[in-house]
Order: sequence, then C-alpha cells, then structure tokens
Amino acid sequence: MTTGVYLRISEDRLGLELGIDRQREDTLGLSTARGCSEPLEFVDNDISATSGKRRPGYEALMDAVDAGEISRVIVWHTSRIWRNRAERADGIERLRAARASLLAVRGPELDMTTAAGRGLAGLLGEFDTMESEIKAERSQREVIQRAEQGRHHGGPRAYGYTADGMSLVEEEAANLARWYGELLAGRSISTIAREAGKHHSSMLCIFKNCRNAGLRVLHGVEYPGAWPAIVPADVWRAAVALLADKSRRTNGNQTARRWLLSGLAGCQRCGGKLVAVTYNGGGGGRLWPIYICHPRRDGCSRSWAAARLDEWITKLVTRRFGREDVGDLLPKNRPDIEAARLEAQGIRDRLKRLASDWMVLGLDDAQVQEANTSGRARLAELEAVIGDARRHGPLAPILAADDPVAAWKAIPVEQVDRRQAVVRSLMAITLGAPPRGRGFDPEKFVFVDWIQP
Ligand SMILES: [Zn+2]
Repeated sequence: MTTGVYLRISEDRLGLELGIDRQREDTLGLSTARGCSEPLEFVDNDISATSGKRRPGYEALMDAVDAGEISRVIVWHTSRIWRNRAERADGIERLRAARASLLAVRGPELDMTTAAGRGLAGLLGEFDTMESEIKAERSQREVIQRAEQGRHHGGPRAYGYTADGMSLVEEEAANLARWYGELLAGRSISTIAREAGKHHSSMLCIFKNCRNAGLRVLHGVEYPGAWPAIVPADVWRAAVALLADKSRRTNGNQTARRWLLSGLAGCQRCGGKLVAVTYNGGGGGRLWPIYICHPRRDGCSRSWAAARLDEWITKLVTRRFGREDVGDLLPKNRPDIEAARLEAQGIRDRLKRLASDWMVLGLDDAQVQEANTSGRARLAELEAVIGDARRHGPLAPILAADDPVAAWKAIPVEQVDRRQAVVRSLMAITLGAPPRGRGFDPEKFVFVDWIQP
C-alpha cells in the first residue's frame, strides 16, 4: 500500500497553527506505524487557507491519487487538506474513484470506498468549516464593540491622526481644518487636491472620513469616537453633503438622456440596427422618442415607440439578476470562483447577523478581535479572487455585488452606455412588426435571445 503524506502550513496570524515540522513528525510517525516508512511527501507552505491560491503540493498529491499511485493519504488534521466545501466534495469523489483512504493524525481513518467513510469525511469537513466560520463571527462582534466604546478600529493610518488613531498629527490636522474651510467657501476639490499634492479620489476619501468629526459610523449608526475631532460635526456633514451634491450635478450635465436600445436592438424584417430619434407628435412641443430602422442607413423605416420598450427590457434584465441562478452568468469552469462567491456571501451574512446578535454570544475582547481580523482578511481575499476573475466585462461589478439587482438598478439612468453594455452581454434583441393600436404586449414583438455565458 503506497502512502502519500500531505503537509500544509498556512499563514499564521494567530499563532495557533502547527508548524510544518511538527506536522511532518506526527504524520510520518503515523505512516510508519501503519507499515509504510517511506511515504511520498507533498508539501504546501505559506498558502493561506482561505485565498483561492493554487496549492501545487495538493494538486500533485491528487494527480498521484487519480493515477492510482497512492492508496492512502495521511494528513495531520482534515482541515489541512481541504479549504472549503467545493474542494472537499471534489477531493472525496476523487479518493472514492481511486479507492483510496484518508487518515488523519487527529482523527479516524476514512475509507473512501465506503459510504460511511465518505459521509464521515464530509461531516468532519463541515465541522472544520464551522470552526473557521465561528472565528469569523466572533470578529464581527468585536468591531461593533470597539465602535461603541469609541475605540479605534485599526487599519491604515488616517490623515491627521497618529497610527493608533487616538491623537492628532498637529500639522496635518491644521491642514485638514483649513481644507474643510476652503471647500465650504466654494473652492473646488480638484484645486484643493492639487495644492495638497493628493489625488482627487484620495482627497474625497479624506474629506468624507467621519473620524475627522470625532465620529465612528458602523452599519449606519454613529458612535462618538474617543479621539479628538479636527472639525465640528456640522462642518463635516456640510462638506459631505456638498461633495454628494457636486457629483450629482456633474453627472447630470455630462450626457443628455439617451435611449437604451439605440444601436443595440435589430429589426426583424431587414436586419438593420435601430436608432432612437425624437419627433414632435401632435403639436404641443412635446417630443416623442421612437426607435427607427433608419432609411438613411439602408433600413426599412419601421418604427417603434421607445419608452415602454426600454422599461420592458430593463424589467427583463432586473428579473434575470434577481433569479437564484444568477451565478450561472459567471464564467464557466471556474468552481473556485463559485466557491469563493458562496463563502464570501456566507461571511457577509454572518457579519449582518452578528450586528444584531453579538450580545447573545458573550465573547471576550480578544476573541472578538481575533475573529475580526481573520474574518475581514478572509473576505478581502475572497473578494480579490472574485474581482480578479470578473474584472473584465460589464457584468463584472454587478455579479460581484452582494445584491446584483440593486447594483444593476444603481447604474445612473444617464449612464446609458453602461446599461447598454450590460444588456448587450446578456441578450440579443430583435423587434418584430410594431404593434397597432394602444395596447402594449411586448412578448408579441420583442424577441430576446439570451446569451449563454
Ligand atoms: Zn428594418
């Protein structure tokens, strides 16, 4: 019987993980006790348990299992071998197919050729997952507790404050106070940012930071901070309102209203692309938008009223993003992405739940701090994995969002190019004969071909 020993040490934030030497000693000892003194060794070092990073050692191990070269895998603990549910399901199946068993130093031997062995492997794995999820849950509670006590929540140093967030850096604080004054006096943020030698976007972040007003906001609730304020709260609020106002006005001026299906939908009769035009219908100066298969572009001159068509397509897209299988719009053959998405969703759900349930849990500060760190770090890693896979393409930001429907609806109406890009990657639209009379029955003349991702 050939044995493969798998060793993994992950990033050791809490000092609780076993070093690889200790793992090796224990697993080799077990292998010898089971009659194999020179097992094949597979090692992964410093690859976080929660990131989607590849594990060359694990992959080599499973290849050897697939090839029938290994009939028993020894690990220190089942949590060492599989990092999430998707990996576990895949691994159990491959061990079963190869008629191999899994043996843990801290745990039983699992014969994957039997239903009991596979079932137990799944259960043990669920407990491993639960353990790491509980850690994440604790951490969230700490965030809230710290907020309530007005304590600093960690993270990078904020401009104007020392690294621990509790005292002022006098010179920076004076700058900040002056900038708020200038902003409220009507200077543009670009000018202030240029003079300060900062990017426009980082200047925005600085201005919006509530800690400057001695406040901490968590889940929409304000808590007084224990650090000194740089500006009074009403100055900060006025600045934030002003900045929100400015961005609205700029966007509004940039583009006039354009129509969703213009240049996007096709004419069923002649295959032409439709364009939106407005015409003065029935006097009164009111302009009516229509889509026309334009004669100047060799079209057949058919036309359709535009407004309700846009509404209808918007509704179809909203419906699609609201379906449970919204994940099917993801790139195919990427189970790692799907696993990351599910895990990230799970963490976000728990964070929400924790915001209301933390009192019940009654955990101490250190526990909460620990869970906070690991939970946040894990979420950031997962989001990096998800974001990376979807950085390209218009569906990316929507599918990466917690609530795709809300993300789709949040695209400002004047950014019609973004809406069009989303629609275009979801469906092809063809319009049949325009309806006669007053009724609007889109299913009779709007033909939608959903694009397979
Ligand atoms: Zn036509």
